[in-house]
Amino acid sequence: MPHIVILATGGTIAGASDARSQAGYNAGQISAEQLVAAAPGLEMIARISTEQVATIGSQDMNETVWFTLAARIDALLARDDVDGVLVTHGTDTLEETALFLDLVVSGEKPVVLVGAMRPATALSADGPLNLLEAVLVATAPQARNRGTLVVLNDMIHGAMDVTKSSTMEVQTFRSPNFGPAGHVTPNGVVFFRRAARRPVTYILPPAPPLPRVSIIYAHAGMDDGEIRGAVAAGAKGIVLAGVGDGNAAKAAIAALSEAVAAGIVVVRASRTGSGPVMRNIEVPDDALGFVASDFYGPAKARVLLQLLIANGITTPGAVQMAFGGPI
Ligand code: GLU
Repeated sequence: MPHIVILATGGTIAGASDARSQAGYNAGQISAEQLVAAAPGLEMIARISTEQVATIGSQDMNETVWFTLAARIDALLARDDVDGVLVTHGTDTLEETALFLDLVVSGEKPVVLVGAMRPATALSADGPLNLLEAVLVATAPQARNRGTLVVLNDMIHGAMDVTKSSTMEVQTFRSPNFGPAGHVTPNGVVFFRRAARRPVTYILPPAPPLPRVSIIYAHAGMDDGEIRGAVAAGAKGIVLAGVGDGNAAKAAIAALSEAVAAGIVVVRASRTGSGPVMRNIEVPDDALGFVASDFYGPAKARVLLQLLIANGITTPGAVQMAFGGPI
């Protein structure tokens, strides 16, 4: 039988209801062993080992846990007796951890992130089935060499496109630009197409922190205050969660252009939730030294930009190559 290692970090999948209210709950109360025990049938699919890496809600996910995960996954996947790794994770920032791991973990063996929208103690908890389906994906030969995958609610997503789209729905994870990479069906794991595998694996520094990159959310009536605040806080990069195709008010664009002149890398993304941000359409990127985020939303663009700056990739041309090229 294949051997899958589960690295548990917490989140709703490991959540227990809060005794103070029916609706409230505390993330990360259930251990990895208990999660596995709640999914009968797992033992028929794979030999499972578990390690508790963290016990947090993913709103508290951080670079220390990211570095621990990356190092542990590298070590595990290098072993002949490990066939894949699962990471259990809260859903709030799951997409950021998925992209981070996609960008720093190399090799062909599957890395699968899985979470749940309902706590483990809820009626119709979705965690046990999601866990079983994630193990099915991690053991599927066709899941190899696709980078980091995300499995929830019968769907398989690639790390680059997947995003949490609803605060409440069980079907919260979507890939708005490209659609899911595949499904887990009663007849097994089916991929529709190749999940986008990042061509480059970035090197991590020996320890956190990664370079500081701020996200600035654009809105009507915007001025330059938040951008100047980010510069003053020491940002090495700024991601604009712009309106429309990555735009912002004149004062904000002017402040971003000043930031470029001060050596800060500026990437324009969009707050819309889908669609590419392309160069030079409304904003003169060539003249101002900006980078267009292509299909990376603000949160993902931030992760990629942190890794680029950490790897010494800071010129607009080189950063743009990592964000889909000069489109
Ligand atoms: N905020 C918690 C987290 O992201 C719970 C949300 C969830 O896991 O669905 O860990």
